[in-house]
Amino acid sequence: MRNRLCKIVATIGPASASPSMLQLIHNAGVDVFRLNMSHGEHDKLEKVASAIREIEKTSNTPLAIFADLQGPKIRTGAFAGGSITLRYGAEYKLVHSAESNDENIIPIPHAELLDILEPGDVLKLDDGKLQVTVSERNSRHIIAKADTPGELKNRKGINVPGRRLPISALTEKDRADLKFALDLGVDYIALSFVQQPDDVREALALIDGRAGVISKIEKPSAVDQLDEIIELSDAIMVARGDLGVECAAEEVPILQRQIIRNCRRAGKPVIVATHMLESMVESISPTRAEASDVSTAVYQGADAVMLSAETAVGRHPPTAVAIMDRIIAATEKDEDSESFNNVSREEEGYKTADAITLSARRIAEVLDCKFAVAYTKTGSTARRLSRDRPHCPVIASTPDVDVARQLALYWGVRPVVTEDISHFHEMIENADAIAKANGGADGDRIIIIAGYPFGRPGKTNTLKISRIGALD
Ligand code: PEP
Repeated sequence: MRNRLCKIVATIGPASASPSMLQLIHNAGVDVFRLNMSHGEHDKLEKVASAIREIEKTSNTPLAIFADLQGPKIRTGAFAGGSITLRYGAEYKLVHSAESNDENIIPIPHAELLDILEPGDVLKLDDGKLQVTVSERNSRHIIAKADTPGELKNRKGINVPGRRLPISALTEKDRADLKFALDLGVDYIALSFVQQPDDVREALALIDGRAGVISKIEKPSAVDQLDEIIELSDAIMVARGDLGVECAAEEVPILQRQIIRNCRRAGKPVIVATHMLESMVESISPTRAEASDVSTAVYQGADAVMLSAETAVGRHPPTAVAIMDRIIAATEKDEDSESFNNVSREEEGYKTADAITLSARRIAEVLDCKFAVAYTKTGSTARRLSRDRPHCPVIASTPDVDVARQLALYWGVRPVVTEDISHFHEMIENADAIAKANGGADGDRIIIIAGYPFGRPGKTNTLKISRIGALD
């Protein structure tokens, strides 16, 4: 039983792909599993997904899986010796090629990038560890000067801060991975290097409702059109790895806060990702700064926090998850965390369902309710409740397993798959049983929310306050 409301996403890799390790990290607290399509081979990912669905069965807990597409990551080509050594201030030719055997040439297999480069453009290489600046462009070649000395290895990432690249958000590889992931039955697809709302629209058309869409915010151009991207997406990820290469380091915390706030206003879940407990790739405990980073994301109202290398290739995946779990639980116990979770909502356009969930939040507070149990066919009532951040977990009871799995990402929501109800007394009895199964005791107050007549989606109009065991 989880004793926290913010969710944990774990990236699966060689350190966590075995069924026994998946079980251990789930026991330690993972709610959502991330399959990174940049690395995994399809047959291995298939085995991971089926092991997760097995855990789901044995633990009777719906779990979300998302496939993170690589996206149009721009990389250098290959060097004959495996790398070249950049010398400070030396000039290098940027050439359209997949490989080079000249140590004064940086091969770049992407003509689209070379087409737009102008003198003054900065190229960050290998996640920003190295940097060159374009000094000259003429009809024959592009010259760049090294701003940092160091070894540039084969196929390292290239970021050009401030530049929108004329490339599609989905490469050929992404399209093949997307088809594979949808056939696998993943619950969400994460889109990398979203530059504009049309990138999300393109993916939505291909996905055609078979999975939710998580847009990763890692380009400044996506930040410029943030609200439209949030509106189109089912969830957002603050992808701080690439964001921190594209923007100055001091901008990242400010953007994180802004992205979380805008997602909270729009009622869309938001994941804070990358480097959260990075030192735990090696170490058995986090740094104080890392504990503080996870805690800050929780205070800011993130729906989920994510582990990357810590669980994919780290030495202690279950410990990293357990420590993240403890940091979240400790932060949520602080009374101050509730005030941070309040978010102003638009003043117009309230529906009956909004009035019900807002009231549920207040009732949970004044009556110190143990759970809010939401009967939801499409998940919409549970999503609304999650957005309003009630002071108790939301148990989402749905007959649809796909809805239940997607809800695993939402703040405070514990999805359960149950039969449809058709009578008022069933509504109370089932809620009673589900609340007990989730750790409720006789006499605990619960709030029940449903749409009456039952079984019709989009009709949230009923709120009942009940006591476990009383069945009245
Ligand atoms: C990131 O850049 O923070 C991120 C999550 O993306 P990826 O790990 O795919 O580079």
